[in-house]
Amino acid sequence: MTKHNAKTQPTPPSREAINIVWLKRDLRLQDHEPFLRAEQSSIDYLPIYIFEPSALRHPDSALRHQQFVYHSIGAMNAQLTPYHRNVEVFYAEAVEVFSYLCDAFHINEVFSYQESGIRATWERDKAVLQLLNQYSATWHEFQNNGVIRGISDRKLWDAKWYGYAGSKAIENAYTTSNRKPNAHPFPLPETLQTRLENYPSTFQKAGEKFAWKYLESFCSDRGKNYSRHISKPLESRTSCARISPYLAWGNLSIRQAVALVKLHPNYENHKRSFNGMLTRLKWHCHFIQKFEMECDYETRCVNRGYESMPYTNDDHLIEAWKSGTTGFPMVDACMRCLNHTGWVNFRMRAMLVSVFCHHFDCDWKLGTYHLAQLFLDYEPGIHYTQFQMQAGTTGVNTIRMYNPVKQSKDHDPEGVFIKQWVEELREFPTQFIHEPWAVSTLEKQLYGIETTYLDPVINLEECGKNARSKIWGYRKHASVKQESVRIVMKHTRNKASRNSLK
Ligand SMILES: Cc1cc2nc3c(=O)[nH]c(=O)nc-3n(C[C@H](O)[C@H](O)[C@H](O)COP(=O)(O)OP(=O)(O)OC[C@H]3O[C@@H](n4cnc5c(N)ncnc54)[C@H](O)[C@@H]3O)c2cc1C
Repeated sequence: MTKHNAKTQPTPPSREAINIVWLKRDLRLQDHEPFLRAEQSSIDYLPIYIFEPSALRHPDSALRHQQFVYHSIGAMNAQLTPYHRNVEVFYAEAVEVFSYLCDAFHINEVFSYQESGIRATWERDKAVLQLLNQYSATWHEFQNNGVIRGISDRKLWDAKWYGYAGSKAIENAYTTSNRKPNAHPFPLPETLQTRLENYPSTFQKAGEKFAWKYLESFCSDRGKNYSRHISKPLESRTSCARISPYLAWGNLSIRQAVALVKLHPNYENHKRSFNGMLTRLKWHCHFIQKFEMECDYETRCVNRGYESMPYTNDDHLIEAWKSGTTGFPMVDACMRCLNHTGWVNFRMRAMLVSVFCHHFDCDWKLGTYHLAQLFLDYEPGIHYTQFQMQAGTTGVNTIRMYNPVKQSKDHDPEGVFIKQWVEELREFPTQFIHEPWAVSTLEKQLYGIETTYLDPVINLEECGKNARSKIWGYRKHASVKQESVRIVMKHTRNKASRNSLK
């Protein structure tokens, strides 16, 4: 643990008693328990956010995430200004920051939400707790979005979750602070600050205001076609709620979203669509709960029996997948779209994983960080569990292989999405867009087709066949079966308890 060095770093003149609100993935001012509790205390408080160099270096992290965080904080600060409050931003390891704060102030209490993060953040939290204990500061961590810490099975989880989702959101009120802000020794480096400020306009805008805008426009209009469009790469961009980055970084809480959808005047008109979306809000927490109970899913198979499954791991294929140059129009369109906008719908995410792990025969561990970096809504609890479900390494879920040509024909029949993202195919005749490699020389001449688009990097049919026999065969392994029993005991709930939100 690094201790603050008083010789090299400025210390404020007196040890003022203070509480801390430590913001993590909860970047909002309403329905916020840590802020509520801090406001209820007789001691003033300092809200902080820590950009940790080690977290920024972790392979799941990307500038777009940090920019979303930075601009969420900017939006909060704009609202806090009338109260003379400000979220203080630090650039250092959390232990260093708390060590500094504990020396500079008399820290009474720290308020935060529990973080169901990766192992690194879990270990970081343990180190911070140890430090706070040394300074006799009390850390209150509140339950987040109905995810429960410390349970060993899911027997009562559903009922408790419905209790949370149906409960009233906190209406936070803010008082004016009399504190004078102190300069601290861990400001953001100028170069990083400049990069954070230059947030591309192709990504969803950050902050509570935009979270509500997306949700409101979904309920009042966009959501009416949710069920029909959810699998379509183009139409889903409008018809899905698009609230995932806001939930992932906490601009919005789950129960705020549930309440708005359920109480919306359009609920009765679009019940099927809205209920579909409400179900997914529960999935959000269901997956995070799994990860809360086993965060090693970041780096090992959900079902340990798959740890020894062999893969080819061809570097050329991995690179083609990452760069959107596989020669499969729908795969390349999705990867390029993700790179540019940070979002594609569930079906296309599943297809990307399926092609990578099944057709290309690559270990999910070699692809998972790439998508984590591209997803603006990267949420570890959902990401690793979903990635592995699609990779077929859970042993308990139905194995689904998505043929990219079929997905393309079914969900982008006119190739509008493909043409938008694969420049080389923009002028390609629509009837050949799903399988450009199948166009004969004669057809090329007749239609005057010229393109620089690449041939596919694999033979889809052959690789699909091999993948099916490999993945279904492996499921029969004794070690996979044995692990499956453990997983069912730990992570599944009985059917009757699952559905009572609608
Ligand atoms: C390989 C893979 C990785 C994924 N990684 C993430 C991730 O890092 N972060 C993330 O938020 N979602 C992830 N998802 C789930 C899903 O694709 C996105 O939540 C969804 O596309 C977000 O768009 P939306 O807000 O319009 O969703 P909507 O369909 O409008 O649903 C509303 C909300 O419900 C939740 N939700 C929707 N689908 C799922 C699902 N299948 N599982 C869990 N929660 C769901 C999300 O919070 C979403 O914002 C992943 C899916 C796959 C296949």
